[in-house]
Amino acid sequence: MKAQVDAGRCQGHGVCVVTAPDLFEFADDGKAVAVARELSPADLDGARAAEASCPELAIVLSGS
Ligand code: SF4
Repeated sequence: MKAQVDAGRCQGHGVCVVTAPDLFEFADDGKAVAVARELSPADLDGARAAEASCPELAIVLSGS
């Protein structure tokens, strides 16, 4: 499974960066980006928490 941020939705609130700092960071444009790597089992709780807390529904978790 991988995490992605839909740049068209992201408003740069940073909830994801606070919720899962190992998985999300700010890009130079002020929007969040997700780590490119495959998420490990240990990442999943944080990724799902960030997905659920994003006020813009900008985080997409995909893959198995
Ligand atoms: S919480 Fe959502 S809108 Fe806010 S920075 Fe993260 S992806 Fe963007």
